[in-house]
Amino acid sequence: VDGRVPEYLARLQDDDPTHPPEGADDLVAAVVGDLHAHTEWSDGGSPIDEMASAAQAMGHEWLAITDHSPRLTVANGLSAERLAAQIEAIDEWNSRQANGFRLFRGIEIDILDDGALDQSDEMIERLDIVTASVHSHLRMDHDAMTARLVAAVSDPRVHVLGHCTGRRVLSGRGHRPPSTFDARAVFEACAANDTIVEINSRPERVDPPDELIEIALEAGCLFAIDSDAHAPGQLEFKVLGARRAVEHGIEPDRIVTTWSSDRLLEWTSR
Ligand SMILES: [Zn+2]
Ligand SMILES: [Zn+2]
Repeated sequence: VDGRVPEYLARLQDDDPTHPPEGADDLVAAVVGDLHAHTEWSDGGSPIDEMASAAQAMGHEWLAITDHSPRLTVANGLSAERLAAQIEAIDEWNSRQANGFRLFRGIEIDILDDGALDQSDEMIERLDIVTASVHSHLRMDHDAMTARLVAAVSDPRVHVLGHCTGRRVLSGRGHRPPSTFDARAVFEACAANDTIVEINSRPERVDPPDELIEIALEAGCLFAIDSDAHAPGQLEFKVLGARRAVEHGIEPDRIVTTWSSDRLLEWTSR
């Protein structure tokens, strides 16, 4: 109120061990899109247009709406019918925009135990962005999990591998250890099949872990800094992902969320 930063807050900020690394602000500014966001259609808290407005307000040029797939019933995953209705809603929203901002028709599709995808072929064909993630049987045996992930990221219809280890780093009830798999084999399959590796920015996920980001870099992968937002304000989580990308020295051009919507669509439709 007095126009000064309270002493207590100033001290906390000075002591902050997560002080942003040099260049983080530039990367945050360069990120113009997000490939992972939920709405009230599945387990998010807001309608499509509120997520879109928030993304525009923070300077994004595009946003992928990626609600859950049918088998994830706890998250109100979308049946083929509901996904068709959502696609219609997204198309309708886009048709009302005159400023160039664009919503992508997307999905966060469950990777089934054998690496297959949890939605009909017909519906998958209608989507701009397919992010594939594991949400079940995360404790699967190492070799079986490797085969499961390699199969999913090698599917030409998959564009992004979401939160690859499934870990949750918060202490207490929210904690979950990472899935174990041959990360080199999985990321080499990503690179060979043009599947983007997601840096999930959520503070409780921080996924992939640092050592896995290094392996994905060596394998030649592209990355997406994604918020995995379930509410409009959570789109800001991208700041945390951007800090990690800077810490790992990832070139901005290898981060597809710095690309224009046209460039991204051209690349995913190859
Ligand atoms: Zn997920
Ligand atoms: Zn998600």
